Amino acid sequence: MVEPSPSAPHSIAEFVQGYENARTLRGVRCRTCRALTATWGLACSRCGSRELEEAVLSEEGRIVAGTLVTVPSEEFVNDAPYAYLLVELDEGGRISGWMPGASTEAQIAPGTRVRFRPSYKMGIQFEPRAQGD
Ligand SMILES: [Zn+2]
Repeated sequence: MVEPSPSAPHSIAEFVQGYENARTLRGVRCRTCRALTATWGLACSRCGSRELEEAVLSEEGRIVAGTLVTVPSEEFVNDAPYAYLLVELDEGGRISGWMPGASTEAQIAPGTRVRFRPSYKMGIQFEPRAQGD
């Protein structure tokens, strides 16, 4: 018996374009265990199921980790300083992105609230979310 090849609901290129065109954060939800991830894959990282469906992720979350970048790569030379972030989204999924204008550790302390900001620039961009905003 030949096991069928796994198939994904979208290609990696489409997944990346989702950030550039649809202005939403796209992820994948497992139909078996309901785990939600921002990471493209062919099988659930929690239970191994291949029953995956596309999901729209929360646009807000909290910083899990961050690092300040003062010496950027060429594409980001006009954006320094900025922060490279790992963000835990409110409804699940962790995603890496960046936040322009960050220049102090206090601005990127773990737990700080941030919001996805659609942008023409590369990568997934976040901005600080003001208290009570
Ligand atoms: Zn699963």
